[in-house]
Amino acid sequence: MIKTVRSVDELRQCVRDWRSEGLSVGLVPTMGALHAGHMALANRSLETMDRTVATLFVNPKQFGEGEDLDTYPRDEAADGARLEEAGVHLLFAPVVEEMYPPHFATGVKVDGLGDILEGKYRPGFFDGVATVVSKLLNQAGADKAFFGQKDYQQLQVVTRMAQDLNIPTEIEGVPTVREDDGLALSSRNVYLNAEERLAAPVLYKTISHVAQKVKSGEDVSDLEKWGGEQVLAAGFSNVDYLSVHDGETLEPYHDHSRPGRVLVAAKLGRARLIDNVAV
Ligand code: AMP
Repeated sequence: MIKTVRSVDELRQCVRDWRSEGLSVGLVPTMGALHAGHMALANRSLETMDRTVATLFVNPKQFGEGEDLDTYPRDEAADGARLEEAGVHLLFAPVVEEMYPPHFATGVKVDGLGDILEGKYRPGFFDGVATVVSKLLNQAGADKAFFGQKDYQQLQVVTRMAQDLNIPTEIEGVPTVREDDGLALSSRNVYLNAEERLAAPVLYKTISHVAQKVKSGEDVSDLEKWGGEQVLAAGFSNVDYLSVHDGETLEPYHDHSRPGRVLVAAKLGRARLIDNVAV
């Protein structure tokens, strides 16, 4: 069984012991239901750091009204086994009361970056993310923390937050892990039925095509419109956004000399899928 701690005190003690031996420490925050995408973060940490801590916490503050907090897939035993097999040194799996005790009153909000795209469609989502990640970074005191490019806006929000709050943990983004047909791995893919699963890869196919065409100089708003139509034609019920942005500020893409990013969020059956690619 992987060593598992549930209190911040135990987590700090463990990290303190490693640090006193001069060992570097990597942190991999997750909400569990681990798949190969999460394991890519863990493996990146294991390759580059002396010790790796994974965290498992389904953060109620980042779920909105009517979202899937109650039904979110949870299997700590399977997650623990997977992490142990990979060689992760410690699992921090706090209960909600350890993270948010009675009278908890503080929130972290990243203006601008946190209000657009996902922030617009999931109000309060990035406040919940920024709050829990700032806590996890402060609790662990790791040298580096690893986040997936799959959640590209989240990666930018967390990077901004850590810089703004002078948190001395470096944030590293890890490339998206995909199924063979291009669908980005996600804990929420289990919500897709067989027919929807067949349609799902159109998301990646479409944004890849858009990225390629943006690069070759075609009109951005025409491509965004075309992309949305492709996704709807494949059977998605709704496209929240399919748009091209600056790769860092996430502002609308104008300056073709800068890195760009195509981001999409769309609903397919019970699932709301997000994905993104570089221009
Ligand atoms: P979650 O458990 O969904 O909150 O995700 C935890 C971390 O794993 C986040 O940093 C995600 O961006 C990352 N992640 C999720 N899916 C993937 C994927 N397919 N490839 C790479 N990283 C991922």
